[in-house]
Amino acid sequence: MIAAIRISQTGGPDVLKLETFDPGPPKAGEVRVRHRAIGVNFIDIYHRTGLYKLPLPTGLGLEAAGEVEAVGPGVSRFNAGDRVVYASGPIGAYAESSNVPADRAVAIPEGIAFDIAAAVLLKGLTAHYLLRRTYPVKPGQTILFHAAAGGVGVIAVQWAKRLGASVIGTVGSDSKVEIARSLGCDHVIVPARENIANRVREITGGKGVPVAYDSIGRDTFMATLDSLAPLGLFVSFGNASGPVPPFDGALLAQKGSLFFTRPTLMHYVTTADELDAGAGELFDLIRRGDIRIKPPRRFPLAQAADAHRALESRQTTGSLVLVP
Ligand code: NDP
Repeated sequence: MIAAIRISQTGGPDVLKLETFDPGPPKAGEVRVRHRAIGVNFIDIYHRTGLYKLPLPTGLGLEAAGEVEAVGPGVSRFNAGDRVVYASGPIGAYAESSNVPADRAVAIPEGIAFDIAAAVLLKGLTAHYLLRRTYPVKPGQTILFHAAAGGVGVIAVQWAKRLGASVIGTVGSDSKVEIARSLGCDHVIVPARENIANRVREITGGKGVPVAYDSIGRDTFMATLDSLAPLGLFVSFGNASGPVPPFDGALLAQKGSLFFTRPTLMHYVTTADELDAGAGELFDLIRRGDIRIKPPRRFPLAQAADAHRALESRQTTGSLVLVP
């Protein structure tokens, strides 16, 4: 039997309950991972509130790092004792251990601690596909990245700077401005007291940006549209403030023949090769110190609700992990 956080109804953080259950042995193609650190991601909040629907009751969480403690039939990718991290489920990472398809996990290189691996894989793979594949950022371009001091933001801002971009970041409060600057943001906007689109126009000499990465959703939708240069790309990859409202496609024409995409990591990492390539690049950048990751804020597994409260009330910067 193992302890796990599970929900039997959607709602606020109080629906997260610590329970015990038997996950059984790993099936063919699976490994059992004994978790040492569990990544907390905003998508876990969407699952908890029901914005993204899951069949109930269910576990929660997509990401964890730990040791392989048992190997199912047919697995050659890992052996017992290997250090691994996974970031695309199956749902239920908020637990002492989990059975995971071996081809969804990657080896953790030497020199990367479990809590760092659990803090960066999902968010780093996201930064990778956003900046390298959804819109390949080129040197000298100015880009807009919202929630620049958040989990994905901390990695994406540093990665964009490595790619030679100039970065305009937004943060929710003055206390996060210095953090965004220390990551490399060339300009930091605090939307609570500044007009995002006006500032972006000012910074870009009236042109607007060729790409804007928006994970805030409802609250920033219009401002992000108004920040784009003609033919610019709106990358809507999250809904921290609520989903983007339905809109008329003609709006994209009016605002400058804009493009709009709503990507999700799952479609960018469909094979073990894609996973290994993205993770390899991410871990190399971290090991070389080109992307600096502070030790994540830690919460005991049993206090997952507190981690959710901190994340959804915008009190956090960087990543959070749960520790079983
Ligand atoms: P973050 O650590 O970035 O936390 C979310 C941040 O959003 C907050 O810190 C806050 O920063 C900002 N925010 C703005 N408005 C609100 C609001 N009303 N309520 C809460 N937060 C708000 O989380 P993650 O790094 O886990 O994820 C970042 C975003 O990326 C999420 O929207 C997530 O869903 C999305 N995502 C999408 C993926 C995809 O493939 N599509 C994959 C991974 C993540 P501030 O106070 O500075 O504004």
